[in-house]
Amino acid sequence: MTFNDLGLIEPILRALKTEGYTHPTPIQQQAIPILLSGKDLLGCAQTGTGKTAAFAIPIIQHIYKQQKNDRNARRIRALIVTPTRELAIQIGDSFTAYGRHTGIRNTVIYGGVKQGRQTAALSRGVDILVATPGRLLDLISQGFISLRDIRYSVLDEADQMLDMGFIHDIRRIIAMLPRQRQSLFFSATMPKNIVELSRQMLGDFERVTVRPEQTTADKVKQSVYLVSKKNKAQLLKHLLHEQYGASTLIFCRTKHGCDKIVRILGKGNLHAAAIHGNKSQNARQRALGDFKRGKISILVATDIAARGIDVDALSMVINYDLPNVSETYVHRIGRTGRASASGVALSFCDVEERTYLRDIEKLIRQDIPIIEDHPWVDEQGDLIEQMMPKSHQHNRRKNNGRNSGNRKNYRSGGNNRRWSKRKTTSKQV
Ligand code: AMP
Repeated sequence: MTFNDLGLIEPILRALKTEGYTHPTPIQQQAIPILLSGKDLLGCAQTGTGKTAAFAIPIIQHIYKQQKNDRNARRIRALIVTPTRELAIQIGDSFTAYGRHTGIRNTVIYGGVKQGRQTAALSRGVDILVATPGRLLDLISQGFISLRDIRYSVLDEADQMLDMGFIHDIRRIIAMLPRQRQSLFFSATMPKNIVELSRQMLGDFERVTVRPEQTTADKVKQSVYLVSKKNKAQLLKHLLHEQYGASTLIFCRTKHGCDKIVRILGKGNLHAAAIHGNKSQNARQRALGDFKRGKISILVATDIAARGIDVDALSMVINYDLPNVSETYVHRIGRTGRASASGVALSFCDVEERTYLRDIEKLIRQDIPIIEDHPWVDEQGDLIEQMMPKSHQHNRRKNNGRNSGNRKNYRSGGNNRRWSKRKTTSKQV
């Protein structure tokens, strides 16, 4: 199937050609016809699947077709609510790219910066608004935004918004939307509270699922290093020197941790920048820009700041800390191996994080190969693990029969994975 088969208008097809897209991704193939027909949509998909274009293209097409006879042109017709500033900016860029020949205007609003430019853009008139929840409610309460004319609403990354504590804001926003509208709801995962929220927002809907494990299993070469907390920085320097110049995104759980890693790498002549919530929006954009342009090859980020980062040809993701929410792992490694590329994801796991590793493996239904031939193997961790009650131990033998087709021992291709020694060289990643 090509984009020509989807019934898209010429200005959009032309823009897609400029973007270099020839074939719609699975979520685009499924979602675009549903959305063009006017139905609501529940999309179970993460970033990296092409979901932004899946919702942006039909919205642009609808607005374009109505625009000609519409005396209310330049009133906000579409609202996209998304958790972070980076993601909002990226979605805005996508609307600009796909809509470049349509004359449709979008603007992006988010917190952490002065509102002057945003309110100026709003007063010039926009058709599509991309917003983070807090700033949206703020500008509504100040009278700069009215949701009265909204005909298309998108709630993006719903699970992340709930994790970030936006539930009340989201409910307030949904309550303000006109009843007559098309609603789209995207979430990478569908726990109970998300399903409930989706019911509140959607009318008669169709569901499209692109399972996250497909992305991780098929595209990203994953491995894990068992290493004690105190040796993680040494191991990181070792790996970065080995892979010198490869564009690498490092995830760390805390803001303070990110800054510390940047300092340590700097001392080892590895130039890196950090992005996290304590950095100003300008500093974040600058670091991201330098990283995208290849001016720096290492970026260290917290999950919140990294959400939505889309870098062409990102070679490697390193999980300096393993996330305690398994879905976050899927999001993180999805930064590499985007729509067409393949990537590498390395994770550091200290003894306290082994439960997280187990949960992640359960979610992605794979055992992640362990690299044990490195200078900082955590022998101590194995002893501690063995002293734990049986129910807390990571019993790999127990898993041996499960999904063996997916499970690879890097060197031998076998699947006799175990916590104790196995010679697998780190040079192979
Ligand atoms: P998203 O999941 O929306 O964040 O998109 C992930 C990446 O895939 C972005 O870099 C998009 O520009 C790219 N992309 C989206 N749709 C296509 C397509 N049909 N062909 C190639 N790349 C695409």
